[in-house]
Amino acid sequence: MGKNKDKGKGNKAGAAGKPSSVRELLRVGPGFDLGEVDPRRIVAGPDDKETARAEALALEAEVTWLQERLFAESKAGGKRRLLVVLQGMDTSGKGGATKAIDRICEPVGLRMTSFGAPTKEELRHHYLWRIDKALPRAGSIGIFDRSHYEDVLIVRVHNLVPPDVWGARYDEINAWEKKLADGGLVFLKCMLHISREEQQQRLLDRLADPTKHWKYNPGDVDERQLWDQYQEAYQVALTNCSTDYAPWYVIPADRKWHRDWLLSRLVAETLREMDPQYPAMTFDVPTEIARVKAS
Ligand code: AMP
Ligand code: MG
Repeated sequence: MGKNKDKGKGNKAGAAGKPSSVRELLRVGPGFDLGEVDPRRIVAGPDDKETARAEALALEAEVTWLQERLFAESKAGGKRRLLVVLQGMDTSGKGGATKAIDRICEPVGLRMTSFGAPTKEELRHHYLWRIDKALPRAGSIGIFDRSHYEDVLIVRVHNLVPPDVWGARYDEINAWEKKLADGGLVFLKCMLHISREEQQQRLLDRLADPTKHWKYNPGDVDERQLWDQYQEAYQVALTNCSTDYAPWYVIPADRKWHRDWLLSRLVAETLREMDPQYPAMTFDVPTEIARVKAS
């Protein structure tokens, strides 16, 4: 299936008017079934690329301002920080999604970390060790391209550790996330959901373009054969680990511009809700103006 084939509008929620909250629309709740999420669906917002791109970019000024407030808050001892976790099948667009967030954020205070197969050193440690090390500092924003969820995704699909070991990780991840959330870390966990057909098209696109060959990994085709096992592993991870303190959001990602629109909204909504505050002044402004003038 070509990506230009169906320009249909999808079964858009709340056709007229503004979406109330993208987080509400995408959140994994009770009874969630990944198989029922249409990766081509337009969940809310513009149904054309140009408007969607423009609307996403228009969030930049506000997001930058919120980011500055978050940073300012940390200067007075605030512990809050934001972590965007990106998961998805190969070619689902984790790199593109990172760029979309980057476009609306200040580079200062933004840090991206990619997690590939663990190194020898990482394998000698607990699987959360390398994740802990990469967490954003107070006042800043982190983006994870893959994450500790690989330890219940690829690890589960390939039984890289025995089932009782990966099976215990869901509760362990929840407890670890709870502790971090209690300490001021706000999670924005996003699964970029593409269809099997779209993945095939994206792999073929990479092969058709010599400048994209570097993105092509023959091993992706082997993982692709395990599509259903991966979908099952995602279903279990999403439902076991979507909690009040660290919910999962599933982003229909066959259309890149809609993926980016949704992601920009999610980031903006989350920062708005965090409502970071400039620290209280430790000096009297009129007194200081007088002192400056007299100096
Ligand atoms: P890429 O994102 O294309 O650079 O690929 C990274 C690869 O590393 C993917 O195949 C991941 O599934 C794999 N990977 C990431 N984390 C782990 C992990 N904890 N254990 C095993 N493989 C992993
Ligand atoms: Mg890859």
